[in-house]
Amino acid sequence: MIKNIALDGPAGAGKSTIAKLIAKKLNYIYVDTGAMYRAMALFMLRRGVDINDEKAIIDAAKEAEIEIRYEDGVQCVILNGENVNDYIRTEEVSNAASKTSVVREVRERLVALQQSLAAKENVVMDGRDIGTKVLPDAYLKVFMTASADVRAKRRYDENISKGMECDLEQIKQEIIERDNRDTTRKESPLVKAWDAVELDTSEMSIEQVVEKIISMM
Ligand code: C5P
Repeated sequence: MIKNIALDGPAGAGKSTIAKLIAKKLNYIYVDTGAMYRAMALFMLRRGVDINDEKAIIDAAKEAEIEIRYEDGVQCVILNGENVNDYIRTEEVSNAASKTSVVREVRERLVALQQSLAAKENVVMDGRDIGTKVLPDAYLKVFMTASADVRAKRRYDENISKGMECDLEQIKQEIIERDNRDTTRKESPLVKAWDAVELDTSEMSIEQVVEKIISMM
C-alpha cells in the first residue's frame, strides 16, 4: 500500500530539508514540486517572457517540457532535455516562480506530473498545494510553519553557506511578498488542508521536526 506524505507550508519553513531526511529514513522518494515551478519560471526568464502577462506565459509554457529524473537519489529537473538544478535556486527565479505559478495551465501540467510520480512509489512531496490538491488522499499531511524572521534567517544562512551574497532584510521582504502571492492567488492557494497537522518549527531543531513527523506515521 502506498503511504504518501504531503508537506506544505510557506517559503523557508524548512520543508525540503525535512522532506529529504524523512525520505532517507523511510526509504521514500523525495519530490520537490517547487523545483518544477522554478524550472518553468527559468524557461520564461530565459525566453524574455513577461512574467506578468498570463497569455504570454500560457503560450510559452507549451514549449517547456519538464521531466524529473533521479541521479544517486537526487532529484534532477530536466527542462527540454537539460538538467537545470544549478540554475533554479536564485532569488530571481524564486520570485518569478511565485508569479508564473499562479497560472492555471502551468499548474495543471505540473500537478499531473506530480500525481504520476506519487502513484508509483511512496513519496514525501513538498510544496504549497500537496495536501489540498495534488495528493488529497495522502496518508499523512503536515503543514509546516515558522515565523517570517526565522524563515528569512534560514534562507539567508543557506545562501551564505553556498557563497551567495545576500541581504537579510531584503530576503525577509521577498519571503513576505512571495507568501502573500502564494496565499492569495485564485488557483490552489497555500492553505492548510483540513486534515493536515500543523507544525510550527520556529523553536524546533531539524532532528526534532523529523522525529515528530516520523512518529505520526
Ligand atoms: O518551494 P519553493 O520555494 O521552491 O517554490 C517556489 C515557488 O513555486 C513558490 O513560491 C510557489 O509560488 C510555487 N509553488 C507552487 N506550488 C507548489 C510548489 C511551489 O505554487 N506545489
